[in-house]
Amino acid sequence: MERHASCHCGQLALRCTGEPSKVSLCHCFDCQRRTGSLFSVAAFFPRAAVAPIAGAARSFHRPSASGFGVSFHFCPECGSSLWWEPERLPHLIGVAAGAFADPGFPMPEQAVWAEERHRWLELPSEIAAHARNPVRTAPGE
Ligand SMILES: [Zn+2]
Ligand SMILES: [Zn+2]
Repeated sequence: MERHASCHCGQLALRCTGEPSKVSLCHCFDCQRRTGSLFSVAAFFPRAAVAPIAGAARSFHRPSASGFGVSFHFCPECGSSLWWEPERLPHLIGVAAGAFADPGFPMPEQAVWAEERHRWLELPSEIAAHARNPVRTAPGE
C-alpha cells in the first residue's frame, strides 16, 4: 500500500508506505489554530515508511503539553501543514490525514482533548474520546 500526501498547492508531497501505525483526532486549541478547522487528524507512520517526493518545506517548532516539543513542516507557498515530528516519539512521523484527500482513509481510533471540542461536533461512538491526552504525548498522538 502506497499513499501520497500533498499540500494545497501541490509543490510539497510525501509518499507513505504501508498502513499508518495509528490514526488520531485532536480537538485541542493548538490544532484548531494550526489547521483553521475544528480538529486535526494525524496519521502516524513509522519514520522509515515516509519519504519526500517533491518540494521544499519550512518548519515551526513549539512545546507541547507533554513537555516534549514538536516540529511542524509546512509548505512555504500555500501554508499547508503536511507533517510533524514529535520529539517524544522520534520513531514516528505524523502526517495530516486530510492531505491524502482520500475518503477511504482509515478512521481515527481515538479523539483527544475532547474538553476543547466544539459542542455541536459529535463523532462516531467507535472513536474513543479522551478529555485530554491520556498518554500525554505529542499533539494528536
Ligand atoms: Zn503548497
Ligand atoms: Zn491538538
